[in-house]
Amino acid sequence: MFALGADPIVLPLAGDAAHQVLRVNDLADYARFRAAIEGKKNVALLGAGLIGCEFANDLAAGGYRVHVIDTAPRPLGRLLPQAVAQQLQQALAATGVVWHLGTTARAVSRHAADLRVDLADGTALDVDAVLSAVGLRPRTQLAQRAGLQVNRGIVTDRLLQTSAADVYALGDCAEIDGQTLPYVLPLMQATRALARTLAGTPTAVAYPAMPVVVKTPALPLIVCPPPALPGNWTYAEHASGTEARFEDAGGKLLGFALAGAATARKQALTKLAPPVFS
Ligand SMILES: Cc1cc2nc3c(=O)[nH]c(=O)nc-3n(C[C@H](O)[C@H](O)[C@H](O)COP(=O)(O)OP(=O)(O)OC[C@H]3O[C@@H](n4cnc5c(N)ncnc54)[C@H](O)[C@@H]3O)c2cc1C
Repeated sequence: MFALGADPIVLPLAGDAAHQVLRVNDLADYARFRAAIEGKKNVALLGAGLIGCEFANDLAAGGYRVHVIDTAPRPLGRLLPQAVAQQLQQALAATGVVWHLGTTARAVSRHAADLRVDLADGTALDVDAVLSAVGLRPRTQLAQRAGLQVNRGIVTDRLLQTSAADVYALGDCAEIDGQTLPYVLPLMQATRALARTLAGTPTAVAYPAMPVVVKTPALPLIVCPPPALPGNWTYAEHASGTEARFEDAGGKLLGFALAGAATARKQALTKLAPPVFS
Protein backbone atom coordinates (compact mmCIF):
# COMPACT_ATOMS: atom_id res chain seq x y z
CA MET A 1 0.00 0.00 0.00
CA PHE A 2 1.23 3.50 -0.86
CA ALA A 3 0.46 6.24 1.68
CA LEU A 4 3.46 8.48 1.07
CA GLY A 5 1.87 11.92 1.30
CA ALA A 6 2.92 14.91 -0.79
CA ASP A 7 5.95 17.17 -1.20
CA PRO A 8 5.75 20.95 -0.99
CA ILE A 9 6.26 22.60 -4.37
CA VAL A 10 9.58 24.48 -4.46
CA LEU A 11 9.56 27.75 -6.42
CA PRO A 12 12.60 28.34 -8.63
CA LEU A 13 13.91 31.48 -6.87
CA ALA A 14 17.11 33.34 -7.63
CA GLY A 15 19.32 34.91 -4.93
CA ASP A 16 21.97 33.77 -2.47
CA ALA A 17 19.40 33.04 0.27
CA ALA A 18 16.86 31.09 -1.80
CA HIS A 19 17.88 27.97 0.16
CA GLN A 20 16.72 29.70 3.37
CA VAL A 21 13.07 29.72 2.28
CA LEU A 22 11.16 27.54 4.72
CA ARG A 23 8.26 25.16 4.09
CA VAL A 24 5.97 23.45 6.61
CA ASN A 25 4.84 19.93 5.75
CA ASP A 26 5.35 18.14 9.04
CA LEU A 27 6.10 18.77 12.73
CA ALA A 28 9.88 18.97 12.23
CA ASP A 29 9.39 21.65 9.55
CA TYR A 30 7.09 23.53 11.91
CA ALA A 31 9.68 23.41 14.71
CA ARG A 32 12.30 24.82 12.29
CA PHE A 33 9.93 27.61 11.27
CA ARG A 34 9.12 28.51 14.88
CA ALA A 35 12.83 28.63 15.72
CA ALA A 36 13.49 30.88 12.71
CA ILE A 37 10.87 33.46 13.73
CA GLU A 38 11.53 33.39 17.47
CA GLY A 39 12.06 36.97 18.64
CA LYS A 40 11.72 38.28 15.05
CA LYS A 41 9.17 40.68 13.56
CA ASN A 42 8.77 40.42 9.78
CA VAL A 43 7.72 37.38 7.77
CA ALA A 44 7.09 37.00 4.03
CA LEU A 45 4.64 34.30 3.01
CA LEU A 46 4.66 32.95 -0.53
CA GLY A 47 1.16 31.74 -1.40
CA ALA A 48 -2.29 32.96 -0.39
CA GLY A 49 -3.96 29.54 -0.45
CA LEU A 50 -5.46 27.68 2.48
CA ILE A 51 -2.21 27.15 4.38
CA GLY A 52 -0.81 30.60 3.51
CA CYS A 53 -3.95 32.39 4.72
CA GLU A 54 -4.12 30.38 7.95
CA PHE A 55 -0.44 31.10 8.69
CA ALA A 56 -0.95 34.79 7.81
CA ASN A 57 -3.81 35.08 10.30
CA ASP A 58 -1.93 33.26 13.07
CA LEU A 59 1.29 35.22 12.57
CA ALA A 60 -0.52 38.58 12.45
CA ALA A 61 -2.42 37.65 15.63
CA GLY A 62 0.94 36.78 17.20
CA GLY A 63 2.24 40.29 16.55
CA TYR A 64 4.25 39.65 13.36
CA ARG A 65 4.20 41.93 10.36
CA VAL A 66 3.21 39.61 7.53
CA HIS A 67 3.62 40.16 3.79
CA VAL A 68 1.65 37.71 1.62
CA ILE A 69 2.65 37.33 -2.03
CA ASP A 70 0.54 35.55 -4.64
CA THR A 71 0.23 35.66 -8.43
CA ALA A 72 -3.59 35.48 -8.10
CA PRO A 73 -5.61 38.69 -7.72
CA ARG A 74 -7.29 37.48 -4.50
CA PRO A 75 -6.52 35.16 -1.56
CA LEU A 76 -7.98 31.66 -1.71
CA GLY A 77 -9.04 32.43 -5.27
CA ARG A 78 -9.33 28.76 -6.27
CA LEU A 79 -11.69 27.93 -3.39
CA LEU A 80 -13.76 31.05 -2.78
CA PRO A 81 -16.10 33.11 -4.95
CA GLN A 82 -14.81 36.62 -5.60
CA ALA A 83 -17.00 38.51 -3.11
CA VAL A 84 -16.04 36.20 -0.21
CA ALA A 85 -12.35 36.22 -1.18
CA GLN A 86 -12.47 40.03 -1.02
CA GLN A 87 -13.96 39.86 2.47
CA LEU A 88 -11.11 37.59 3.56
CA GLN A 89 -8.59 39.96 1.99
CA GLN A 90 -10.06 42.91 3.92
CA ALA A 91 -10.39 41.01 7.19
CA LEU A 92 -6.76 39.90 7.11
CA ALA A 93 -5.62 43.38 6.04
CA ALA A 94 -7.39 44.70 9.14
CA THR A 95 -5.18 42.42 11.29
CA GLY A 96 -2.09 43.97 9.66
CA VAL A 97 -1.46 41.53 6.79
CA VAL A 98 0.10 43.33 3.80
CA TRP A 99 -0.98 41.85 0.45
CA HIS A 100 1.18 41.71 -2.67
CA LEU A 101 -1.27 40.17 -5.13
CA GLY A 102 -0.89 39.71 -8.87
CA THR A 103 2.88 39.38 -8.51
CA THR A 104 5.45 36.81 -7.50
CA ALA A 105 8.77 36.53 -5.69
CA ARG A 106 11.78 36.49 -8.03
CA ALA A 107 14.71 36.30 -5.61
CA VAL A 108 15.58 35.92 -1.93
CA SER A 109 18.97 37.37 -0.97
CA ARG A 110 20.95 38.20 2.13
CA HIS A 111 20.71 41.91 2.94
CA ALA A 112 22.59 43.04 6.07
CA ALA A 113 20.96 41.08 8.93
CA ASP A 114 17.75 40.49 6.94
CA LEU A 115 16.49 38.58 3.97
CA ARG A 116 15.45 40.67 1.00
CA VAL A 117 12.60 39.37 -1.16
CA ASP A 118 12.50 40.91 -4.62
CA LEU A 119 9.09 40.80 -6.25
CA ALA A 120 8.34 40.80 -9.98
CA ASP A 121 6.51 44.15 -9.60
CA GLY A 122 9.74 45.82 -8.39
CA THR A 123 8.91 45.82 -4.65
CA ALA A 124 11.72 44.81 -2.27
CA LEU A 125 10.73 43.45 1.14
CA ASP A 126 13.18 43.17 4.04
CA VAL A 127 12.06 40.38 6.33
CA ASP A 128 13.43 38.00 8.96
CA ALA A 129 12.02 34.79 7.44
CA VAL A 130 10.33 33.57 4.27
CA LEU A 131 7.75 30.79 4.39
CA SER A 132 6.61 29.16 1.15
CA ALA A 133 3.11 27.65 0.98
CA VAL A 134 2.53 27.40 -2.75
CA GLY A 135 1.03 23.93 -2.86
CA LEU A 136 1.84 20.25 -2.62
CA ARG A 137 2.70 17.62 -5.20
CA PRO A 138 1.71 13.97 -4.56
CA ARG A 139 4.72 11.71 -3.95
CA THR A 140 4.57 9.44 -6.98
CA GLN A 141 8.22 8.63 -7.79
CA LEU A 142 8.33 5.25 -6.02
CA ALA A 143 5.11 4.10 -7.69
CA GLN A 144 6.38 5.31 -11.05
CA ARG A 145 9.62 3.39 -10.64
CA ALA A 146 7.55 0.31 -9.76
CA GLY A 147 5.72 0.66 -13.07
CA LEU A 148 2.35 1.75 -11.66
CA GLN A 149 0.13 4.16 -13.55
CA VAL A 150 0.73 7.70 -12.34
CA ASN A 151 -0.99 10.90 -13.36
CA ARG A 152 -1.09 13.86 -10.96
CA GLY A 153 -1.16 11.27 -8.16
CA ILE A 154 -0.86 7.48 -8.07
CA VAL A 155 -3.88 6.43 -10.11
CA THR A 156 -6.44 4.22 -8.34
CA ASP A 157 -10.01 3.13 -8.93
CA ARG A 158 -12.70 3.64 -6.30
CA LEU A 159 -11.56 0.47 -4.52
CA LEU A 160 -8.24 2.34 -4.08
CA GLN A 161 -6.49 -0.31 -6.16
CA THR A 162 -3.64 0.95 -8.33
CA SER A 163 -2.95 -0.31 -11.85
CA ALA A 164 -1.40 -3.42 -10.21
CA ALA A 165 -3.63 -6.03 -8.59
CA ASP A 166 -3.56 -6.06 -4.77
CA VAL A 167 -1.51 -2.84 -4.61
CA TYR A 168 -3.41 0.10 -3.10
CA ALA A 169 -2.84 3.84 -2.60
CA LEU A 170 -4.59 6.47 -0.51
CA GLY A 171 -4.10 9.87 1.07
CA ASP A 172 -2.24 12.82 -0.45
CA CYS A 173 -0.20 10.63 -2.84
CA ALA A 174 -3.25 9.07 -4.48
CA GLU A 175 -5.47 10.13 -7.35
CA ILE A 176 -8.69 8.30 -6.66
CA ASP A 177 -10.98 8.06 -9.69
CA GLY A 178 -9.50 11.34 -10.99
CA GLN A 179 -9.59 13.22 -7.65
CA THR A 180 -6.61 14.36 -5.59
CA LEU A 181 -8.07 15.76 -2.36
CA PRO A 182 -5.27 16.52 0.13
CA TYR A 183 -7.43 16.79 3.25
CA VAL A 184 -8.09 14.62 6.26
CA LEU A 185 -11.82 13.99 5.63
CA PRO A 186 -11.36 12.26 2.24
CA LEU A 187 -8.45 10.32 3.73
CA MET A 188 -10.73 9.02 6.51
CA GLN A 189 -13.39 7.97 3.99
CA ALA A 190 -10.74 6.14 1.96
CA THR A 191 -9.23 4.46 5.03
CA ARG A 192 -12.58 3.06 6.16
CA ALA A 193 -13.37 1.69 2.69
CA LEU A 194 -9.92 0.14 2.28
CA ALA A 195 -10.08 -1.49 5.72
CA ARG A 196 -13.30 -3.25 4.69
CA THR A 197 -11.81 -4.29 1.35
CA LEU A 198 -8.70 -5.73 2.98
CA ALA A 199 -10.91 -7.56 5.50
CA GLY A 200 -12.65 -9.35 2.62
CA THR A 201 -15.57 -7.10 1.64
CA PRO A 202 -14.63 -5.10 -1.48
CA THR A 203 -15.86 -1.56 -0.70
CA ALA A 204 -15.68 1.40 -3.05
CA VAL A 205 -14.86 4.71 -1.39
CA ALA A 206 -17.72 7.21 -1.27
CA TYR A 207 -17.00 10.91 -0.98
CA PRO A 208 -19.94 12.86 0.46
CA ALA A 209 -19.91 16.66 0.27
CA MET A 210 -16.87 17.52 2.41
CA PRO A 211 -16.77 21.22 3.36
CA VAL A 212 -13.33 22.65 4.09
CA VAL A 213 -13.01 24.67 7.30
CA VAL A 214 -10.63 27.59 6.81
CA LYS A 215 -9.08 28.44 10.18
CA THR A 216 -8.83 32.22 9.78
CA PRO A 217 -10.39 33.68 12.97
CA ALA A 218 -10.31 37.16 11.38
CA LEU A 219 -13.06 35.80 9.09
CA PRO A 220 -14.12 32.20 9.81
CA LEU A 221 -14.88 30.43 6.54
CA ILE A 222 -16.38 27.13 5.41
CA VAL A 223 -16.29 26.27 1.74
CA CYS A 224 -17.67 23.39 -0.26
CA PRO A 225 -16.23 24.00 -3.73
CA PRO A 226 -18.68 23.24 -6.55
CA PRO A 227 -17.76 20.75 -9.27
CA ALA A 228 -16.86 22.15 -12.72
CA LEU A 229 -20.49 22.43 -13.84
CA PRO A 230 -22.46 25.41 -15.18
CA GLY A 231 -24.05 27.54 -12.49
CA ASN A 232 -24.02 30.89 -10.72
CA TRP A 233 -23.02 32.27 -7.34
CA THR A 234 -25.71 34.12 -5.39
CA TYR A 235 -25.13 35.91 -2.10
CA ALA A 236 -27.28 36.38 1.00
CA GLU A 237 -26.15 38.59 3.87
CA HIS A 238 -26.98 37.35 7.37
CA ALA A 239 -26.21 39.25 10.57
CA SER A 240 -22.41 39.65 10.32
CA GLY A 241 -21.97 36.87 7.78
CA THR A 242 -22.31 35.95 4.12
CA GLU A 243 -23.90 32.85 2.62
CA ALA A 244 -22.76 32.28 -0.97
CA ARG A 245 -24.52 29.52 -2.89
CA PHE A 246 -23.50 28.07 -6.24
CA GLU A 247 -26.63 26.78 -7.97
CA ASP A 248 -27.42 25.32 -11.37
CA ALA A 249 -30.10 26.80 -13.67
CA GLY A 250 -32.78 24.77 -11.84
CA GLY A 251 -31.78 26.15 -8.42
CA LYS A 252 -30.04 22.97 -7.28
CA LEU A 253 -27.24 23.66 -4.81
CA LEU A 254 -23.85 22.49 -6.17
CA GLY A 255 -21.49 24.20 -3.71
CA PHE A 256 -21.29 26.94 -1.11
CA ALA A 257 -19.08 29.30 0.87
CA LEU A 258 -19.99 30.59 4.32
CA ALA A 259 -18.29 33.54 6.02
CA GLY A 260 -18.47 34.88 9.57
CA ALA A 261 -21.60 34.03 11.54
CA ALA A 262 -23.08 32.30 8.46
CA THR A 263 -20.69 29.38 9.14
CA ALA A 264 -23.43 28.18 11.52
CA ARG A 265 -25.31 27.11 8.33
CA LYS A 266 -22.68 24.43 7.56
CA GLN A 267 -24.77 21.36 8.51
CA ALA A 268 -27.91 22.58 6.76
CA LEU A 269 -26.13 23.28 3.46
CA THR A 270 -23.89 20.19 3.57
CA LYS A 271 -27.04 18.04 3.62
CA LEU A 272 -28.20 19.72 0.39
CA ALA A 273 -24.86 19.67 -1.46
CA PRO A 274 -24.17 16.79 -3.88
CA PRO A 275 -21.55 14.15 -3.04
CA VAL A 276 -18.14 14.37 -4.77
CA PHE A 277 -18.93 10.78 -5.74
CA SER A 278 -21.14 8.17 -4.14
C1 LIG B 1 0.54 23.02 7.16
C2 LIG B 1 -0.57 22.04 6.83
C3 LIG B 1 -1.82 22.22 7.37
C4 LIG B 1 -2.88 21.35 7.06
N1 LIG B 1 -4.09 21.57 7.61
C5 LIG B 1 -5.11 20.73 7.32
C6 LIG B 1 -6.40 20.93 7.89
O1 LIG B 1 -6.62 21.86 8.65
N2 LIG B 1 -7.40 20.07 7.56
C7 LIG B 1 -7.19 19.02 6.71
O2 LIG B 1 -8.12 18.25 6.44
N3 LIG B 1 -5.97 18.79 6.16
C8 LIG B 1 -4.93 19.62 6.44
N4 LIG B 1 -3.70 19.39 5.89
C9 LIG B 1 -3.54 18.25 4.98
C10 LIG B 1 -3.33 16.96 5.77
O3 LIG B 1 -2.27 17.15 6.68
C11 LIG B 1 -2.98 15.83 4.76
O4 LIG B 1 -4.08 15.67 3.88
C12 LIG B 1 -2.71 14.51 5.46
O5 LIG B 1 -1.68 14.63 6.40
C13 LIG B 1 -2.33 13.46 4.41
O6 LIG B 1 -2.01 12.26 5.05
P1 LIG B 1 -1.09 11.20 4.33
O7 LIG B 1 -1.00 10.05 5.25
O8 LIG B 1 -1.57 10.98 2.94
O9 LIG B 1 0.33 11.93 4.18
P2 LIG B 1 1.32 12.40 5.34
O10 LIG B 1 0.59 12.80 6.58
O11 LIG B 1 2.23 13.41 4.71
O12 LIG B 1 2.13 11.09 5.67
C14 LIG B 1 2.98 10.47 4.71
C15 LIG B 1 4.08 9.72 5.46
O13 LIG B 1 4.79 8.89 4.56
C16 LIG B 1 6.18 9.00 4.84
N5 LIG B 1 6.95 8.64 3.64
C17 LIG B 1 7.21 9.39 2.55
N6 LIG B 1 7.95 8.69 1.66
C18 LIG B 1 8.15 7.47 2.19
C19 LIG B 1 8.82 6.29 1.76
N7 LIG B 1 9.45 6.22 0.59
N8 LIG B 1 8.79 5.20 2.57
C20 LIG B 1 8.15 5.25 3.76
N9 LIG B 1 7.50 6.34 4.22
C21 LIG B 1 7.50 7.43 3.45
C22 LIG B 1 6.33 10.46 5.24
O14 LIG B 1 7.52 10.66 5.97
C23 LIG B 1 5.07 10.68 6.10
O15 LIG B 1 5.28 10.30 7.44
C24 LIG B 1 -2.64 20.25 6.18
C25 LIG B 1 -1.37 20.06 5.64
C26 LIG B 1 -0.34 20.94 5.94
C27 LIG B 1 1.03 20.72 5.33
